[in-house]
Amino acid sequence: MAEKIIMLGDARSPAPAIPAQLEAPTGLLADALGRPLHDLRISVTDRCNFRCVYCMPKEVFDKDYAYLPHSSLLSFEEITRVAALFVAHGVEKLRLTGGEPLLRKNVEKLIGMLSALRTPSGAPLDLTLTTNGSLLAKKARALKDAGLNRVTVSLDSLDDVTFKRMNDVDFAVGDVLAGIDAAHAAGLGPIKINMVVKAGMNDAQIVPMARHFKGTPSILRFIEYMDVGASNGWNLAEVISSSEVVRRIAAEMPLVPVLANYAGETAARWRYADGEGEIGLISSVTQAFCKDCSRARLSTEGKLYTCLFATRGHDLRALLRDGRSDAEMSSAIGALWRVRADRYSETRTINTSGIANAEAPGERRVEMSYIGG
Ligand code: SAM
Ligand code: SF4
Ligand code: SF4
Repeated sequence: MAEKIIMLGDARSPAPAIPAQLEAPTGLLADALGRPLHDLRISVTDRCNFRCVYCMPKEVFDKDYAYLPHSSLLSFEEITRVAALFVAHGVEKLRLTGGEPLLRKNVEKLIGMLSALRTPSGAPLDLTLTTNGSLLAKKARALKDAGLNRVTVSLDSLDDVTFKRMNDVDFAVGDVLAGIDAAHAAGLGPIKINMVVKAGMNDAQIVPMARHFKGTPSILRFIEYMDVGASNGWNLAEVISSSEVVRRIAAEMPLVPVLANYAGETAARWRYADGEGEIGLISSVTQAFCKDCSRARLSTEGKLYTCLFATRGHDLRALLRDGRSDAEMSSAIGALWRVRADRYSETRTINTSGIANAEAPGERRVEMSYIGG
């Protein structure tokens, strides 16, 4: 049974130090393992209208759960200012996430502000959003009009009973499928569909999902169930490996591996031998991709995390609200990235009961719903 946690915000995240010598961003930052900074994921809310069993289990995220108060959230102006600093450091891709990002009031306005940012060479950014799809039918057109390029939709099953068991709020799959259609019609494609596979829960849906999306403009990606956060009661026995996913699909619909588009691509790609599209596999458990990880994450309350499995963040909001200049903030961000050495998935150890290594005493990994996927 998952342990009850009340605290979601990470109180152990100090404000980063401002280097004595300020440095202008060069767009060429590299961390301690030589990895660039290319991708910023921004969590715009810690709230969600789903209670996915692997992410926000009901028994932990119940009516007494202490979500962040509105005053803790970064404003749209604050988010845009931080994003601009990251862009100057080399970030080319922004992804809005959460919680459920479409629950953040007026998120279209934020998208409009972010879409006006340009890289140092004047190019527009790749602006995307990950959603559970529940509000997409209503919002797709406004998101596109505001400047969003693409969406990724999480969908764990086509079977209504299984889908409702996974979202745990009785949400019908037909409404998410309508959201995918609306996003496609609005020009938010090619749409990626993310399916987290949990053994015994939805693994019987692997082949039906593959069959459903084969030959459509949407790209289905299978995600190994991860030991992220501290509340989902993760166990290795509940992980279905990507190689098993490929085996099951290829038994019915032959697959051929595809070379990566670029270094750092999280999904391994396979295409259908008959030319009817491709699938992606995100193997965070069985095949770590830390060596190319160029992602930073900004939490809803403005803490910077350099790894999904971090227990501590760096409080950029404190700098923002302390009146620090762009030069000071940018130098602090650069200094943090330069010492980054995170590679949790490569060093994860799993004990004989199938449980992944715990945090050090007094530390707790941040929740996926707080930091975003
Ligand atoms: N609410 C939005 C959604 O579900 O798409 C965005 C936030 S959600 C935290 C981002 C992604 O993380 C989703 O695709 C979700 O399936 C994935 N995710 C959440 N918990 C996970 C876990 N334990 N293992 C693997 N993926 C997980
Ligand atoms: Fe909500 Fe997304 Fe987490 Fe599901 S995966 S509970 S939709 S934040
Ligand atoms: Fe990146 Fe951390 Fe995931 Fe490795 S474990 S891929 S460093 S987020």
